[in-house]
Amino acid sequence: VKKQRLDKILGNLGYGTRSELKRAAKQGRMTVNDKVIKDSGLQVDPYQDRIEFDGEPIMYREYVYLMMNKPQGVISATEDRRDRTVVDLLDVEYQVFQPFPVGRLDKDTEGLLLITNDGQLAHDLLSPRKHVPKTYEAHVLGEVTDTDIEAFRQGVTLDDGYETLPAELRILEHTPSPEGTVSLIQLTISEGKFHQVKRMFESVGKKVIYLKRLSMGALQLDPALPLGEYRELTAAELESIG
Ligand code: URA
Repeated sequence: VKKQRLDKILGNLGYGTRSELKRAAKQGRMTVNDKVIKDSGLQVDPYQDRIEFDGEPIMYREYVYLMMNKPQGVISATEDRRDRTVVDLLDVEYQVFQPFPVGRLDKDTEGLLLITNDGQLAHDLLSPRKHVPKTYEAHVLGEVTDTDIEAFRQGVTLDDGYETLPAELRILEHTPSPEGTVSLIQLTISEGKFHQVKRMFESVGKKVIYLKRLSMGALQLDPALPLGEYRELTAAELESIG
């Protein structure tokens, strides 16, 4: 493990800015392996060296992994000029890790979003070559039929000419509404083109009016997680996607 500056380690954990930590070190508030350290720029190994701040041992970790049930109206990005982002919804305690969402959900899409600062994991999950399956639940205006199931299994042509990979469509329910039949469906796709689910239904003349992601690879949205809330992945969940 490579060593890092003491102020960087503590800063990442939310203990203060670089200048605050410099002052704190001068005041003798930091110890490394029981020795008072006055230089906050000291290189230490966060896993091997025992760091204490104000007498409290610090728990170091490099990565954070969060599962969010994304609500509508927030952007899957780290910053946005106009709208709130999913990172804005996190406590500072997590924001200090500089996490980012793994992939995008549209502003009006809800459901499972993984938020992490583990770039390698994000890269692996998003790599087009890995074909990580993603399952969505949707309300579709129009009567989704067996013909659509077959079309999605074969692959459909999107508005830009792209041919989709085989996808698995399941019809759960048809409900009458004033605007016509609404179909409740589940769709599993193994790629992630821009607005893919909406555009697949457009290609068969139907409109997605509600969209929610249920799973990404082995990771499933915790049904107990309310909209807009998030929690850390369990060790088992992390294991399942790592
Ligand atoms: N497909 C879409 O159309 N939108 C999403 O947010 C995700 C998949």
